[in-house]
Formats: sequence, structure tokens, C-alpha cells
Amino acid sequence: MLELDVLVIGAGMSGLIAATELQKTGLNVAVVEKARGSGGRLSSKRIESSKTKAMISFDLGCASFDAKTELFRSHLETWSSEGIAKVWRFSEATGSQYVATPRSSSITRYLAGQLDVHFATRVTEIRKDNGLWSVFIEESGLQVKFAQTKHIIFATPPQQAADLLPEGHPFISALSQPILLPQWVLMLNVKGRLELSDEYYEFSDSIISSLILEPSKPERVQSNDHQTWVLQADTKWTSDNLDTDKTKLEHELVAELASKTGTPIIVEDAYLHRWLYSVAKPNELTGSVFLDDTNGIWGCGDYLADTTKLSGVEAAFISGYQLAKSFQL
Ligand SMILES: Cc1cc2nc3c(=O)[nH]c(=O)nc-3n(C[C@H](O)[C@H](O)[C@H](O)COP(=O)(O)OP(=O)(O)OC[C@H]3O[C@@H](n4cnc5c(N)ncnc54)[C@H](O)[C@@H]3O)c2cc1C
Repeated sequence: MLELDVLVIGAGMSGLIAATELQKTGLNVAVVEKARGSGGRLSSKRIESSKTKAMISFDLGCASFDAKTELFRSHLETWSSEGIAKVWRFSEATGSQYVATPRSSSITRYLAGQLDVHFATRVTEIRKDNGLWSVFIEESGLQVKFAQTKHIIFATPPQQAADLLPEGHPFISALSQPILLPQWVLMLNVKGRLELSDEYYEFSDSIISSLILEPSKPERVQSNDHQTWVLQADTKWTSDNLDTDKTKLEHELVAELASKTGTPIIVEDAYLHRWLYSVAKPNELTGSVFLDDTNGIWGCGDYLADTTKLSGVEAAFISGYQLAKSFQL
């Protein structure tokens, strides 16, 4: 069993940057992550093509991110020099759009490499005993005590934090609001090339909200005879179709894409994923970095940054960083 100053729950951008900064101050910190790898919503996926047997890599969550703050830009410069981030595109509206290289999870994998991170470890309960938090995980169907810690940082989506907080905790109702919207994401590996001239599209009048040509990103796998596109669905359409049959949804999204290109699409491989928690809306917790610091319960994540100014990955980074700077043992 671990004995810690701080246990961070969640190895996404916010949790890993908070853990990195706290570890620098000499605290005894560990991170737990229920998935087998790092990244959370900034993760990538690799599947084998059923037709060609080639490996297809794509960004399953965030497609790219911007950097409005000097602090995040300076970290991106460091990560660029380490070869794990690059500018993908530039537009007048959004400025430089960055991606992690060679895949979306590269930055979080790099951060995790310098920390004590326990993957495939899902926290199932936290309980305060004699002034310290006991943290329990699920192991082979049993609940076992994993750590004893002075402080817990929730770097999870808000609903998942609410599910773990002790019954009656004052933050449960705010965290249970629909702060993060759901989103279906479909990867298509198509034969040939689509009749589209750009690598990135945003639509406001479609069930597809964004369309991304994966191999246009730096250091992604190229193919002469196939293209990998990622379709991010409209969040309202997703909410209306949370439990709709996956085959039906895939057909609808492919038909919509075909109507945009004006030509039939030959799909060789497809992968559809439902994110229950995708991007954050402004909410009543916006701007806070702790949930109940007198009891050693802290929170960070994209939804806790000032979402009127920042969003997505940058918001997660700033929230985790600010938490570490406000932290008091
Ligand atoms: C489809 C999609 C598109 C997006 N597009 C963009 C974009 O264009 N630009 C942009 O900037 N951002 C975008 N985002 C949002 C961006 O990815 C997130 O804002 C950011 O990655 C959030 O990081 P986080 O650390 O706050 O949370 P997360 O990445 O959600 O990390 C939370 C982690 O906690 C873990 N966890 C939860 N419960 C437990 C538990 N009980 N025990 C252990 N571990 C647990 C989860 O597995 C997860 O890894 C997008 C996200 C999605 C899904």
C-alpha cells in the first residue's frame, strides 16, 4: 500500500501537469489512471486494418489545440524541442493549432514517464480514516486498499469526481451537472482520396461538427492508396443518439460525408467511439482550483479553468498548473 502526500486521480493533461509541478516541490506524489495508457481525452488509438492488415493510427479524442497563454506556449516550446509537439495548422481565427507528435498521447506519455503512475487502476472509493484518506481500487473483482494519502486531487471529468466524493459532500450537486458534453467520433479508413481540398473542416449545419484528415498532421503515417479521416459528430445530435445502434449511426455519418464530397465513399475500416464527456461548457465551478481544500480534496481539469477565456487542452493544463501553485500541504 502506498503512503503519500498527494494522490492524483486521472492521467490526462491536468492531472499529470499538477503531479509534475507538485513533485518538483518535494512532495510524495502518485497518479492513478483507470485506462491502460495516459492522455484521457487527449488519447490516440491504433487498430489493424481488416483489409490491408496495416496499422491505422488516429487521434480518438482532441484533434488539435491552441495556446493563448504565454505559460502554455513556453511549455509547448520545450515539448517541441523534445520532439513531442508541433504546429499543425495556422488560421487567422484561431492562430497556431498544435498537435502532439507522433501521436496525441505523446505529451502525456512523456509527463507520465517522470512520475509514479499506476495504469489500469480504477479508484472505486475514498474514505477518511483518522485524518488520512484511504483510497480503494478494484482488483480481480475485489475492492482493495491501494493508498493512504493526505490529499486527493480529482483530475477526472466532474461527474466521475462526484461519483467518488463521500456521500453528502457539498460539491456533488454542482459536479453532477451536465458540464461536459457527449460526442460520437468516427474514424474512417477510405480507399483512394476524398474529393476534398482542405485537411480540416468545421460545419455548423451538419451532424458532423469537424472533419480531420489524420495524415495531414505532422509525423502521422502516410498511405498512397488510403486516407484516414476522423469525423467528430455534433454534440446535440450525439445527445439525441446516445444509445442508438452503432451501425445506424455509422451509416448516417458516412452518408453525410458523402453528401459533402458529392462522391461515393469506399470505407475499408471504421471505428466509432462514444465519448460521454468531451468538451466543457462554462459552469458554476469555473475558475476554482480546489473543491474542499480544508479536507484535502482538490480538483483540476478543463472545466475548472476560466472557460470564458480558455478551452480544452490548454484549459486542462492551466487548471492543473494553477492547482499545484495554490497547493498547501
Ligand atoms: C472528441 C473530442 C474532441 C476534442 N477537441 C478538442 C479540441 O479541438 N481542442 C481542445 O483544446 N480540446 C479538445 N477536446 C478536449 C480536451 O481533450 C480536454 O479538454 C482535455 O484533454 C481534458 O484533460 P483533463 O486532464 O481535464 O481530463 P481527461 O483527459 O478527461 O482526464 C481524466 C482522466 O481521469 C481518468 N479517470 C476517471 N475516473 C477515474 C477513476 N475512478 N480512477 C482512475 N482514473 C480515472 C480517465 O480515464 C482520464 O484518463 C476534445 C475532447 C474530445 C473527447
